[in-house]
Amino acid sequence: MIKELILQAREKANAGLRLNLQEALALYEDNDLLFLADCARRMKEKKSGRQVFYNVNKHINLTNICTSGCPLCAFQKKEGEPGGFVLEETDIAKILEEAKVTRNLGEIHIVSALHPDKPFEYYLNVVKQVRQALPQVDIKAFTPVEIVHFSQMTGKSIKEVLEILQKAGLSSLPGGGAEILSDRVREIICPKKATTVQWIETIKTAHKLGIRTNCTMMYGHIETIEERLQHLFTLRDIQDETGGFQAFVSFPFHPANTGLDYLKRVGSWEDMKMMALSRLILDNVDHIKAFWIMLTMPIAQLALGFGADDLDGTIGEEKIIHAAGANTGRGITRSKLRQLITEAGFEPVERDTFYHPVETGEEAVK
Ligand code: SF4
Repeated sequence: MIKELILQAREKANAGLRLNLQEALALYEDNDLLFLADCARRMKEKKSGRQVFYNVNKHINLTNICTSGCPLCAFQKKEGEPGGFVLEETDIAKILEEAKVTRNLGEIHIVSALHPDKPFEYYLNVVKQVRQALPQVDIKAFTPVEIVHFSQMTGKSIKEVLEILQKAGLSSLPGGGAEILSDRVREIICPKKATTVQWIETIKTAHKLGIRTNCTMMYGHIETIEERLQHLFTLRDIQDETGGFQAFVSFPFHPANTGLDYLKRVGSWEDMKMMALSRLILDNVDHIKAFWIMLTMPIAQLALGFGADDLDGTIGEEKIIHAAGANTGRGITRSKLRQLITEAGFEPVERDTFYHPVETGEEAVK
């Protein structure tokens, strides 16, 4: 890497100026983690000051039976395979009864596999059922991959599918399934699910309909560093156009129990480098989330020093990431989240899906 390019990239990062791909690559190669942390922290503070967000949420995975067979995935089962499950109306009703007594529950987060037989109406009815049981709660549901699947199943356009779900009570999309937005990479890790073009089309359509989304990245598998960084620039371009991303969430790849189990999970140095670089590159995205269930809580807490300003939520029971060997707990209390944020020197703010502060009605845990 040319020395002048590294110097130029460092100057721009230090000044909080917009980076280009070559400069981002130079910063990656430079590998000065504490410098990146310092620049990223300053950019975070410009956006959210000393605040760090979390929410009280509950994840529901409707099924793990999937037609897609992505090599990257540890969650999927074939129909009839032991361990396969599908939640039916009564199962969901039971989960919602429990959710009703969860204090301050702000969000239900629903993502699932691409079931071969369950029709679109099944998913639509789940949204209606949640909306009816929990009228005040935000429903963040279905990745662009699932939306494309619904569109293909029904013959309806992506826009029509989103409009129907929105009308039934869908509040936002989680933005998963982006992995790395490169056709070369997707051909190897997830050849049958939504393409780069389809993922982007779904996101842009959602934003045009006023459905806000997150954006995501799963790194540390077969992608090159340039492909990984280019992914961030693709997201930045979308955000310049639509402004519909609320938060960016990055996931290190967990190889256990996947078709790529010969790979090794990247280390914490890489996680923190990507956290800081994401904060710097995505200068138009307000929030960077450290997804504790993927990173482990000690690393997620550390990420608050590398530009992250959100620890996600209490979660409840999560199945997808744990299928890939994540040994994090299955949920966490809000007081523990607040304590972890305070311990890192930040001010905990309970939020709803749209980052509006929520009145907690209790003292922050010191
Ligand atoms: S990543 Fe999603 S689409 Fe691919 S196999 Fe797993 S559940 Fe199915």
